[in-house]
Amino acid sequence: MTMADEKSGHKQAFGADVARLLHMMVHSVYSDKSVFLRELISNAADACEKLRYQAIARPELLGDDASGMRIDITLDRARRTLTVADNGVGMTAEEMTEALGTIARSGTRAFMEGLQGGANNQGKTQDASEDTATASGEAHLIGQFGVGFYAAFMVADQVEVFSRKAGADTAARWSSDGKGEFTVSPVDLADAPAHGARVVLHLMDGADEWLDPANVRRHIRDQSGHVPVPVTLHFTRPAQDDDAAADNGVESDAADAEKPAKPDEAVDEQIVDGSALWTRSRNDVKPEEYTDFYRSVGGMFDEPAMTIHYRAEGRHEFSALLFTPSSRPFDLLDPERKGRVKLYVKRVFITDDTEILPRYLRFMRGVVDSADLPLNLSREMIQNSPVLRAISQNVTGRVLTELEKLAESDADAYAKVWENFGPVIKEGVHEDFARQERLLGLARFRTTTGGDSWRSLKDYVANLRENQTAIYYITGDAAAKLESSPHLEGYRARGVEVLLLTDPVDSFWVMGAPGFEGKPLRSVTQGGADLDLIPLIDADAPKGGDAGPEVTAFITAVKETLGDAVTDVRASNRLTDSVVCLVAPGGGYDRHMERLLSGFGRLDQATKPVLEINPHHALTQALAALPADDPDFRSDVAHLLLDEAAILDGGQVGDASAFAGRLTRLLARAARGKQQASN
Ligand code: ADP
Ligand code: MG
Repeated sequence: MTMADEKSGHKQAFGADVARLLHMMVHSVYSDKSVFLRELISNAADACEKLRYQAIARPELLGDDASGMRIDITLDRARRTLTVADNGVGMTAEEMTEALGTIARSGTRAFMEGLQGGANNQGKTQDASEDTATASGEAHLIGQFGVGFYAAFMVADQVEVFSRKAGADTAARWSSDGKGEFTVSPVDLADAPAHGARVVLHLMDGADEWLDPANVRRHIRDQSGHVPVPVTLHFTRPAQDDDAAADNGVESDAADAEKPAKPDEAVDEQIVDGSALWTRSRNDVKPEEYTDFYRSVGGMFDEPAMTIHYRAEGRHEFSALLFTPSSRPFDLLDPERKGRVKLYVKRVFITDDTEILPRYLRFMRGVVDSADLPLNLSREMIQNSPVLRAISQNVTGRVLTELEKLAESDADAYAKVWENFGPVIKEGVHEDFARQERLLGLARFRTTTGGDSWRSLKDYVANLRENQTAIYYITGDAAAKLESSPHLEGYRARGVEVLLLTDPVDSFWVMGAPGFEGKPLRSVTQGGADLDLIPLIDADAPKGGDAGPEVTAFITAVKETLGDAVTDVRASNRLTDSVVCLVAPGGGYDRHMERLLSGFGRLDQATKPVLEINPHHALTQALAALPADDPDFRSDVAHLLLDEAAILDGGQVGDASAFAGRLTRLLARAARGKQQASN
């Protein structure tokens, strides 16, 4: 009989797809089972920090427990259990049902959503065989998220949690074999901690390494060495064993077997002292300690791409330890745009729900610990406190400075940061008015002349052509598509660099951007192109503007025919190879933005485009030379030119059957002409 079958509590099923998740985790993708220990210790530390905070206002919650917060890990060879106990805030029976029995929680929920919709959206793993694609996609996802409490079932076939909530006068036991059901039942107060939780893992066959003190010690040090609560390991060792033998770990089984008669010695060994890493001086911290701390505080699995650690003194006193991840956190593009920097006050965790960094820096991880904020402020009051605002200003400025320094000193490392977080940082150009110019300085772009390398606006401005007064850009979905846009022809002919903006956010910030070093930003699909003054690379190539009275008359006639369908028809100087293109009238949205907004149904009335005609194109010249004696033919031609431009613009022809009629008439006419010529 398994414990979940007991009559005492009633059985309940796990929420949603937990069974599947568990199975997958245990059997396929998690190669490194040790994460369970990190997850349980991190939960215990969270619970301690919660109680530490609540006890500021309600010291009675601590009861008789004056010894401070602690986490105890006990290895019991005889019962084959590993126990993680804390004297934190604990859970009521209801809270256990809710927190340990459903997956409607942060990490795991996001994980499941990722599995359902996002495995391939993550864009990293997409293999030919579907099986491989799924398995590696899941592995990738699981690595990103961590799965919290459930990780316990990777090494245990039965998990019990005994808990009493601080201040409550009842206690309960949660138990499950992790196969889809769990029970919650009341227990005697004597069987539960005075406050806190005791998680007992009944280790499965083959998980003996988790009874070995040396192994457990090593994993605690490596993965949880910087949790802000002391961690003590309890185990027994045969009295005659010396430290070296115990340290050899795996051998201790054999040692036990050889000398069974002697009494065992109980060992209590503090492994983590719970001191806060950020309070130490930068020179005293090793890189691997930073990595370790970053992973446990940020819930990440990678190496930090950049570490910022400093102490501010003077008007406000605080320490900051912040990291830029080297991969994208899974919630980066969540609409909530929540930051993850934790706020401490004098080493007491207060909240991770306050905006210390602006949202466009939400990828940053780490802690800020203030000595100036009063501990007894409510979270709401902290949020609005001028002290926090001042800290926030300082820390934000520092992050930007460090990014600037990295860009300066190691362009490749910075390029990676930009590839991961550029789309988010650019939100700031739109939102953080005071720092627009700095953020534009940090921005990197693909351009028409930059090839595969990232270009800064500084690079761009250094590369301006004679008489060029603006920074030109084109927006769209894909760089390859943009590069073949007819709008770029005139710029290319003059060697003018154009920024290729393909992130969804680009269309938004670019409209409000102030320009850079005095040069305004201008869309190549908007307004009249002021290209005439910039010399052509090939000086003999036909130049825009005036191509003679016949062409001018032709353009006027097209405009009369099209009437209200367009804002204007004019001779183009941005085209060299194509015959027509659509542009936005000056002052309106650029063409890409116009399409985006009308796609969202956000434009009541779409702005009519301007049709530009290449006056030097052979077709234009031939059409202009024809006698104007056939109004039907002229009308077909004018409309077809507009249709062609609309298709090139990525849009659709206005009236498909009218378009087909025109095209048919024109082709018939061309065919007849050919026939006559050959007769
Ligand atoms: P997460 O830590 O991301 O919320 P977990 O699966 O690790 O997800 O834990 C789920 C929830 O269970 C926690 O949010 C917390 O409410 C509760 N919990 C887990 N362990 C403990 C503990 N030792 N003490 C109190 N509550 C706990
Ligand atoms: Mg957790």
